[in-house]
Amino acid sequence: MPVEVVAGRLKELTFRQLLEKTSSFVTVAELVTSRGLITERNGRRVLQLARSLSEHPRFHALSITDNPGGHAMLSADTLGTDLISRGQQVIIHLSCKDWNRNALESRAWKLASEGFQNVLALSGDYPAGGYAGQAAPVFDIDSVGLLKMFSEMGGTSFFLGAVVNNHKRHEREVMPQYFKLAKKIECGARFIINQIGYNSRKDDELLRYVTLKGLNVPVLANVYVLSVEAARFFHAGRIPGCVVTDELLALAEAQTSSPDRGKSFFLEFAAKQCAIAKGLGFRGVYLGGRLRFEDYERILEIWDSFGRDDWKIFAREISFGQPGEFYHFEPDSATGLSSSEISRDYLRSKASPPRASLAYEINRAIHEKIFEEGKLGFRVGKSLYESIDWRPRLKEALHKAEQACKIVGFDCRDCGDCSLPDIAFLCPESQCAKNQRNGPCGGTRDGLCEVGEKECIWARAYDRLKAHGEEEKMLEGPVVYRNGALRGTSAWANTFLGRDHHQRKTQEEK
Ligand code: SF4
Repeated sequence: MPVEVVAGRLKELTFRQLLEKTSSFVTVAELVTSRGLITERNGRRVLQLARSLSEHPRFHALSITDNPGGHAMLSADTLGTDLISRGQQVIIHLSCKDWNRNALESRAWKLASEGFQNVLALSGDYPAGGYAGQAAPVFDIDSVGLLKMFSEMGGTSFFLGAVVNNHKRHEREVMPQYFKLAKKIECGARFIINQIGYNSRKDDELLRYVTLKGLNVPVLANVYVLSVEAARFFHAGRIPGCVVTDELLALAEAQTSSPDRGKSFFLEFAAKQCAIAKGLGFRGVYLGGRLRFEDYERILEIWDSFGRDDWKIFAREISFGQPGEFYHFEPDSATGLSSSEISRDYLRSKASPPRASLAYEINRAIHEKIFEEGKLGFRVGKSLYESIDWRPRLKEALHKAEQACKIVGFDCRDCGDCSLPDIAFLCPESQCAKNQRNGPCGGTRDGLCEVGEKECIWARAYDRLKAHGEEEKMLEGPVVYRNGALRGTSAWANTFLGRDHHQRKTQEEK
């Protein structure tokens, strides 16, 4: 039974104990390391801020980012090690953009050996810039794969967290984010932080969705303290997945004429967001932004000055939804937040969804008849590939025929471990910049990929599956890990001969 612990004693508990054994509201500060050595000016500034925050009784954990925005920064471990030696609870961010699965496993052993207990598992932003040109992305696995790998690793026992990006505009973005949230929890996430956003109704919706689906994890509300510059940056879409609407930007711009360029306005705005988070039922706040120690103190001071129910007024005030934004629940006119009734428009659209394209229907029919185990086509395919497995020339000829079909139909890149059936016949190798095989990353904006202008394949897959009433099952299968050893080999042969990830799916279904 979770218990409320007196404020002064909270610092004695680990972050895991706080969330799992108490009902206390926690405060976490996000720290962004600098570019360069920790002994240089900026490095020393972040270190000093971190040390001051670690002595502050109201901050229960410090969370250190991993090359945010895709830029190279000082490793989170360097700052984290200093804090751990002072008894501070640290959350280390680990993303998949710069590390393959072996490097991530190695990091896990290193971190666990050094005493780190809390890891935030992320897919990560697409790399931006780098020495003598843009760095190549890795994305060997994704956040879901990382969570599962870390939960099953021997020797480590991290308290794993994940992020959900609920501040999306379209149903085809929001719903896959919720499905992925459930998948992350199934794979080992024990706490959740939501992405930056300034829409209380959507945050309320997130908690209602978590309760509706029995997901039963503590969720921390992201409170990123704006400035005029940050508002402009987010509004321009410069940080994937972070939205500042026209209305919020106008409010921020209006602060430029104030003597402090809106500093006190934005600190009060953040304090209101903290109050809303507590009022809505989040388990804590996750404070980020370019802040000085005094700014954190000021936010807490303003927050403490609010009355018990003031958050209800603030929630109406801080509700910057996007035009035509999708909500899973009907609004509650009495509060300006969500009601517990599922959106009637959403239910109607589920009952009579638009039809999928003819090309999708044809691919689906072919797949059902040939590639599903147990079907006659599968038995024929299996015996064919078994019979030619020791005949290199025939194998090569069939592989070329396969490629001829799949390059034209799907822009196939010959990875040999095909995920077409997992993503409604859309190829993640050629059409997803981050090769996401277990659901969408959080970087979309208006349904478009954070890299380039393509539609997100997971949004497209959602539409295709919804036409068959299957969208809610889109992430139900086993976690997909692409097997690098299969690159350049026939994906058809690998499916028929049980060499690819579909074999695991079949085994789990038996
Ligand atoms: S085999 Fe790999 S590269 Fe080819 S279509 Fe399938 S997922 Fe894409």
